[in-house]
Amino acid sequence: MSDSVGSIDEVAVARRLTQLREQLARGARRGPVTLCAVTKGFGADAVSVAHRLGCDAIGENYAQEAVAKIAATGAAHPPVHFIGRLQTNKIRSLVGVVDVWQSVDRESVVDELAKRASGARIFVQVNATGEPDKGGCPPANVQRLVERARSGGLEVLGLMTVGPTNGDPTATRRAFANVRALADQLGLVGCSMGMSGDVDIALEEGTTLVRVGTALFGERPSTA
Ligand SMILES: *Cc1c(COP(=O)(O)O)cnc(C)c1O
Repeated sequence: MSDSVGSIDEVAVARRLTQLREQLARGARRGPVTLCAVTKGFGADAVSVAHRLGCDAIGENYAQEAVAKIAATGAAHPPVHFIGRLQTNKIRSLVGVVDVWQSVDRESVVDELAKRASGARIFVQVNATGEPDKGGCPPANVQRLVERARSGGLEVLGLMTVGPTNGDPTATRRAFANVRALADQLGLVGCSMGMSGDVDIALEEGTTLVRVGTALFGERPSTA
């Protein structure tokens, strides 16, 4: 699969993007849905393709990979959303590269962002499935984390979540409905939920931002 880097099929991506846009337009319940094209595991060419095709944002999971790819694309890239596990010691390297921090899930990350990226726009990631290997703040602690972020000068755009790893549709729907309800309780409009396998459920449950990788670009060349 090493030849995958640099070999994004732009025509195929454009076709899938058109279908996805139609799906989002049809299914939107809370106004226009932002499309974050997840480029992790692909080369900088995926970022450039996302840019040329007018994707609203790109999503990256790994600090070094994100920094290298964005450097390679110069200014010609969509806004960068960081969607992977955030390590406090990597935040510094990402300031100036990342536009929206989607995976903020604990106090140490909030505090580091408040220190290094005053005014940064964030989502608070919620672990809505209780899976211990998943990132995200337990639902009961979300309000406190949102308040801490705000008092640190961060702009909280909404909540973000990842559905259950086993993809069970009932559990996915329950997780998304719970996160949407929690966002509404907190007066937050933004809800980042829905990936390639569960976009429709996310739309039905009121997502405002989907993060789609494989359904746009095909299988990832690396299992990063
Ligand atoms: C990889 C990833 C995605 C995209 O997953 P696909 O199944 O390829 O659409 C979305 N969100 C997060 C947090 C991810 O890590």
